[in-house]
Amino acid sequence: MAISTKMQKAINDQINAEFWSAYMYLSMSAYFENRGLKGFAHWMRIQFREEQTHALKFLDYLAARGGKVELQPISPVATDWKDATDAFSETFEHEQKVTALINSLMYMAIEEKDFATQSFLKWFIDEQVEEEATALEILDKLKLINNHPQGLFMLDKELGARPLVEE
Ligand code: MG
Repeated sequence: MAISTKMQKAINDQINAEFWSAYMYLSMSAYFENRGLKGFAHWMRIQFREEQTHALKFLDYLAARGGKVELQPISPVATDWKDATDAFSETFEHEQKVTALINSLMYMAIEEKDFATQSFLKWFIDEQVEEEATALEILDKLKLINNHPQGLFMLDKELGARPLVEE
């Protein structure tokens, strides 16, 4: 069954949103690199790669359904943050927005009785629970650290150990 024009457009928009996320995290990675926080920079670089994977999952799915992939321009991203806490509070807020986007897609798929898209989106629903939880966990630690150099140094080491999980 061919994918609807409405769903095709929504998925193309989501591909753009995922690439925008990738771009934002790459910008944060450069910001941390510049401040000598290599572990934070590494964590953000992995986040960048994960978002690219998300974009490609949507792209491949749309293509598999016989839809037309239409890549759109990527809007500019911020290049500066006040501190690590500021960057991670933006990360947490951003992931909550992404969750809302995924939920809207699911709602549309339910309305259209598009069962294949509902099944495809389930992975993203679960992924967003993880994304929000991880961002909040790091944000909470940063609030506790309250910009003390020792705490930042320790968290930098911890974030530097994040492995890349390809799915
Ligand atoms: Mg994503």
